[in-house]
Amino acid sequence: MAVSIDLSGKRGVVFGVANQRSIAWAISEKLSEAGAEMAFTYLNERLKGGVEKVTSKLGDPLLLECDATDDDQVQAVYDKIKSEWGEIDFVVHCIAYAERDDLGGDFSSTNLQGFRTALETSAYTLMPVVGKAAPLFGESGGSVITLTFDASQRVYPGYNIMGTAKAALENEARQLAVEFGGQNIRVNAISAGPLPTLAARSIPGFSEMTRAHRERAPLGRNINHGEVADTALFLLSDMASGITGAIIPVDAGYGIIAL
Ligand code: NAD
Repeated sequence: MAVSIDLSGKRGVVFGVANQRSIAWAISEKLSEAGAEMAFTYLNERLKGGVEKVTSKLGDPLLLECDATDDDQVQAVYDKIKSEWGEIDFVVHCIAYAERDDLGGDFSSTNLQGFRTALETSAYTLMPVVGKAAPLFGESGGSVITLTFDASQRVYPGYNIMGTAKAALENEARQLAVEFGGQNIRVNAISAGPLPTLAARSIPGFSEMTRAHRERAPLGRNINHGEVADTALFLLSDMASGITGAIIPVDAGYGIIAL
């Protein structure tokens, strides 16, 4: 008998759609196909039009402005969601940013401001995004995913301070998984191989990264957006009810290769 994942009746908030190449968008399309309903946040007025255009493919979803480094804005998103829906079932966190000057060049020349920007945006934000969502999950709990990269563990020249941020993000995912496990809220991270997106464009070594993955990964190719979306669908569904605090690689196996 065929088994498919059905998320009809499930609702969640997606942070991190910027355009149609965003990983968050690939995930959202997949979740929508599975029957889920989503609200979306956009970073600022400048990005609103683009996000509206992309998300309108799913009808007329709730769109809320949110700079996730501002706790009050995150709280305002959940206040609005609570008044509209009452409860939620899942949250998707696909947020990252570092100053362009801090990607490439010498890692040691990252200044405190650059460190703060990268860590606050790419790592800190998971904490309010999960913590402030917790009261909205119902009796049966829910599921949260975030997106990370192998540079949390190994050095990818050019990725620099973002590697530090991803190491922090993964640690947070584990700590949040423990804190909210009692409410049956699961928190997991997908460690994706390189994908061409707006954020990826700012990484100086991105094309070499992509080539290295393609040439050395056991599957002999790069991954695609759909493969990350499939894994997200699984992790956000009850099929993954026994998984929390995990970092799941979707990297065509690149991470197991030493030489
Ligand atoms: P993207 O540029 O489409 O998405 C990044 C998103 O972060 C954008 O929507 C942007 O508006 C949002 N953002 C930035 N600062 C924010 C803030 N202060 N508050 C709220 N939102 C903010 O690029 P993407 O590649 O889809 O990135 C999504 C996630 O996937 C990131 O965490 C990224 O590090 C991760 N990731 C990407 C790759 C890749 O190769 N593209 C690989 C592994 C992991």
